[in-house]
Amino acid sequence: MSGSPLMPVEEAICRLLAMGETQRVLESEQVPVAAARQRVLANDLLATLDLPPWPNSAMDGYALNLDGWNGQPLPVSQQVFAGQAPEALVPGTCARIFTGAPVPRGANCVEMQENTDVLDNGCVNFKLPLTEGRNIRAQGQENRAGDVLLKSGTRLGPFELAVAAAQGCTHVQVVRRPRVALLSTGDELIEPGTPLKPGSIYNSNRTLLSHWLSALGCEVIDAGILPDEPHQTRRKLDQLQHAADLILTTGGVSAGDADCLGQVLRECGKPLLWKLSIKPGKPLTVGEFGRVPVIGLPGNPASALVTFGLLARPYLLRIQGVENVEPLSFPISIGFAWPKPGGRREYLRARMEGGRAVLYSNQSSGVLLGACWADGLVEIPEGCTLQAGDTARFIPFNELF
Ligand code: AMP
Ligand code: MG
Repeated sequence: MSGSPLMPVEEAICRLLAMGETQRVLESEQVPVAAARQRVLANDLLATLDLPPWPNSAMDGYALNLDGWNGQPLPVSQQVFAGQAPEALVPGTCARIFTGAPVPRGANCVEMQENTDVLDNGCVNFKLPLTEGRNIRAQGQENRAGDVLLKSGTRLGPFELAVAAAQGCTHVQVVRRPRVALLSTGDELIEPGTPLKPGSIYNSNRTLLSHWLSALGCEVIDAGILPDEPHQTRRKLDQLQHAADLILTTGGVSAGDADCLGQVLRECGKPLLWKLSIKPGKPLTVGEFGRVPVIGLPGNPASALVTFGLLARPYLLRIQGVENVEPLSFPISIGFAWPKPGGRREYLRARMEGGRAVLYSNQSSGVLLGACWADGLVEIPEGCTLQAGDTARFIPFNELF
């Protein structure tokens, strides 16, 4: 595999999604709506109610019946506040009504109070011509009982969960969280909380990825830090294959002597991809070890971030049954020049300023801060040169969560 040309990003995503299709999480569970954010619906969510459940008023005003009415002022026969159940409208009268209140049976129009006068005798004068159905939110105008409101495979965010709540749901049926064993590899790594030793660095990828995994609905199994040693690597993967749906690692996938993880995966596992046409992130390695898929992200924080967002994220959504896993992206005008064509597709940390994308000053794959500064990634295709004002694809970071 090592001598072969670099794999295009699209092909790597296709392979990951095909692998994900065979590794779908099939179990599901009921969880409270309050705890279901970021989870994925296991079944279609069917409406049990018409919404609105009855015709109600869109305005504060007066409900009346236009049939046979000749425009004369009408006496007020009842008051209906939101939350009350009105009587049928007495013929020849109107009802005082407030926003959200059920429209009395027999009324077919609501006029807003601003277009009325209350006369000395208490009757209401309607100042403008009226039409049937005006200011009435019809029963079932949003949905009918029995409608499919949300399809299985829908990711649940605030909007979707509010739709469930509007149906009176306390719980939703969601796909079990994928269990992801998160393993950081590297002799140099130590965890925050221990004093820094010469030559060591703090493990930042673990924090980056455990939060990101949670945001994608996953359960994180913290598998700690693994030294760069092949026997221990094999033993660790062997242990984890029974505990996890996926082993996600960082580091150790380049071609250096200490890069054990990639070696072990290629020698003892079933490699699926290695060496992508992507910058940062070329050494991304994916394979299977025993019964479990392994996604080996490169250790450099920006490489880990880009490859997780663009490649591991769609995989993790697909195993939960999400159909549309592609992040929304759009063409933007760039505020920089790209004079030298690159051999790999580049993803540059950029933010929007004055309607154009500008780059973070340091695009090194070791630099994490640029991601905090940036709003997203500008994609520069292989072999492409660009001038300021040209157009490139932009993927906002918030699309990747
Ligand atoms: P590697 O992919 O193992 O060759 O690592 C590439 C670079 O990323 C090295 O400079 C590592 O020290 C750094 N690195 C690897 N893992 C981590 C991590 N978990 N947190 C922060 N930096 C890391
Ligand atoms: Mg390493």
